[in-house]
Amino acid sequence: MFEAAGLMVFYENMLALNNVSLQCGENKIVGVFGANSAGKSTLMYTLSGIILDIRKKEEMAGGERITIRGKIVYKGKDIMSDKPSLRARSGIVLCPERRRIFPESTVLENLRIGSYLATTAQAAETLDYVLTTFPALKRILKRLGGFISGGEQQMLAIGRALMAQPKLLLLDEPLLGLSPAIQYLLAKAIREIRDQRGMSIIVSEQYARPIIPIIDYGYILENGAAVVEGSKQELLDNPDVKSAYFGTS
Ligand code: ATP
Repeated sequence: MFEAAGLMVFYENMLALNNVSLQCGENKIVGVFGANSAGKSTLMYTLSGIILDIRKKEEMAGGERITIRGKIVYKGKDIMSDKPSLRARSGIVLCPERRRIFPESTVLENLRIGSYLATTAQAAETLDYVLTTFPALKRILKRLGGFISGGEQQMLAIGRALMAQPKLLLLDEPLLGLSPAIQYLLAKAIREIRDQRGMSIIVSEQYARPIIPIIDYGYILENGAAVVEGSKQELLDNPDVKSAYFGTS
């Protein structure tokens, strides 16, 4: 359903993605694991198309030269040159790293902002679903996004992405900086969302441990390259992966 092949991204001469190929089937959850600077966010920007906007912005400001190569096929069509807005309209929705909540808008306004691609009926139904999935948000709908906890912000970020009616949801480090209890709750919610809403999900994380139980397949990124890939069980059985990404040996 979604296939990226030979992705390369250079920031000037610095190779941030090195020939990355990745697939995500219908209704699958795919994990991308890698340390700081491994290239997770660059990969998410490339899959969502936001890298094209970043490149354009840099060009206009006379900033760094960004070079992008490779192919992304979604539902049988090469979308590599499609703008991020077009990709979003076709169902590829990014929930960015560090959540990017609008701090001066309320929780409800943040959710509504996400529904710009939805019909009124879809927006109402999805809002209901988000508040059922994350009841904590129901109690704080009128609070400003900047004044809620990190866990609540992440629920809001996922909720906002759901409002955009994703068919392929890209979650960039959704568990970053959160307590183990909240990480567990969110990982469970991510699986429930896939099961209940029927969508594909690509999720990146630094540590595999909280996410590995919910994935179907995973990739390990090192220095911009996908060095290992496999099913959940194959990754769990790989001793190198285990010691580097599970915090156990
Ligand atoms: P983190 O977990 O720290 O977010 P990451 O795995 O998401 O890391 P990226 O943010 O994709 O990694 O960065 C990959 C590499 O590209 C890093 O070496 C980073 O310093 C570099 N990089 C990222 N963005 C830019 C940019 N705009 N200009 C130059 N180099 C960049």
